[in-house]
Amino acid sequence: LPSSLKKISDTLWELPVSYKPGMLVPARIVATEKLVREMDAGVFDQVTNVACLPGIINYAYCMPDGHWGYGFPIGGVAAMDPQHGVISPGGIGFDINCGMRLVLTNLTLEEVKPHIHRLVDALFYRVPSGVGCTGFVKCSQTEFRDILEQGSRWCLKNGYAWPLDLEMTEEEGCFPGADASKVSHKAIERGYDQVGTLGSGNHYCEIQVAKPENIIDESLARAFGLTMPNQIAIMFHCGSRGFGHQVATDYLQLFLSVMERKYGLKKLDRELSCAPFQSPEGQDYFAAMKCAVNMAFANRQVILHRIREVFSSIFHKSPEDLGMNMVYDVAHNTAKIEKHVINGKKRDVLIHRKGSTRAFGPGMEGLPDCYRETGQPVIIGGSMETGSYLLAGMESGAETFFSTAHGSGRTMSRHQAKKLGKGQKLQRDMEERGIYVRTDSWGGLAEEAGAAYKDIDEVVEATELAGLSKRVARLLPIGNIKG
Ligand code: 5GP
Ligand code: MN
Ligand code: MN
Repeated sequence: LPSSLKKISDTLWELPVSYKPGMLVPARIVATEKLVREMDAGVFDQVTNVACLPGIINYAYCMPDGHWGYGFPIGGVAAMDPQHGVISPGGIGFDINCGMRLVLTNLTLEEVKPHIHRLVDALFYRVPSGVGCTGFVKCSQTEFRDILEQGSRWCLKNGYAWPLDLEMTEEEGCFPGADASKVSHKAIERGYDQVGTLGSGNHYCEIQVAKPENIIDESLARAFGLTMPNQIAIMFHCGSRGFGHQVATDYLQLFLSVMERKYGLKKLDRELSCAPFQSPEGQDYFAAMKCAVNMAFANRQVILHRIREVFSSIFHKSPEDLGMNMVYDVAHNTAKIEKHVINGKKRDVLIHRKGSTRAFGPGMEGLPDCYRETGQPVIIGGSMETGSYLLAGMESGAETFFSTAHGSGRTMSRHQAKKLGKGQKLQRDMEERGIYVRTDSWGGLAEEAGAAYKDIDEVVEATELAGLSKRVARLLPIGNIKG
């Protein structure tokens, strides 16, 4: 551990501004001692680079699932002054609006288990996955521009959404201010046939069970729709695919060319390129990034439509009769303007969350009525072997601008993880343990072994001890489509 790392509390660690020249604020890591000790050196280096970005407010943060990323650590959170601060694509990530969606059913484990192979196989064929896969929504490039500006609203108009789905999505599935004219032709070309695709790597669609012994907060679980023993839910994770990647790539390049020359911004790390938020380049990126955010919301929405069709055909009931309502959809790679209390005063900040989930507490503006008193559902993936969590935002989340973890976070590189064993063997082992997984890539599967990730129980416990998000239920996998 860096010698100047100071323990603030059992779950909060600080690197002072003296750690590195140029730091404008201290850097803070939310983690237990065990988790902070397991973090790679990249985290300390990167979170303190973030602390050098002009306009940063209070602290640069890293969440307990933090690990090395591009520019920012994954798990990085930074709030900027929207007048005098910068926006940095590295603080959002290449997979803009990568996020998690949780959907309920009124089916139980006993009812689903006999059909699990057919169910997972059908999902595998109906929800395209893998590198470069194309989606089932056939839209022209002109229509794609509408998707970019309207997000889930486009899906509602085109029969892919229930009105309630939008309410149960962060920002109702559309960041206002998206402008498709700020997006390159190349990005449109890469993206317009990818609406309705999971993608590859750690993107997944998982069938999960909420066992009675894994309900941690009964009353919150009930409020979030987990009302029956061994209830089946579906959690899926994907983002803006090649489209978001191209938007990020385009603007990283543009920022690199103007940051020093035009704006006199110091380049600490090429990966941390940025532009003043109020500059034309900064505003253009913001409007283009919102297009990718909306594309990802639409992507998850049409995938939900497909999942409902599959369940409906296998269980011979309508999705409505199967109670296939959304718990919530929440992003973990975004930048947005939010109101937060800074030095006792409520004001707008530009908040970057990269591998970090918004976790609004009870009573906060921007939550649907049904979650006003409970706080926002927070959806955190663990791994395909170990399980995942549903949590709730807490009133005490102000320290991190109401942000929390987004996963367990990797401890091993993909390369190291591959050495754990072959994908085919892993699939057979998992099947013996009651998890049926389908994938396009055996190599990819091997890289996703549970052992390649931190212990999800420790990560979520740390978020709860730190007062960021409270555990509601632990969800166990029984089926998985891995991208
Ligand atoms: P990201 O790609 O957004 O950084 O990672 C998302 C998180 O999801 C990872 O940190 C990991 O904890 C979790 N995760 C990855 N693959 C799976 C999976 O197949 N199932 C579940 N439940 N979680 C996963
Ligand atoms: Mn992603
Ligand atoms: Mn993600």
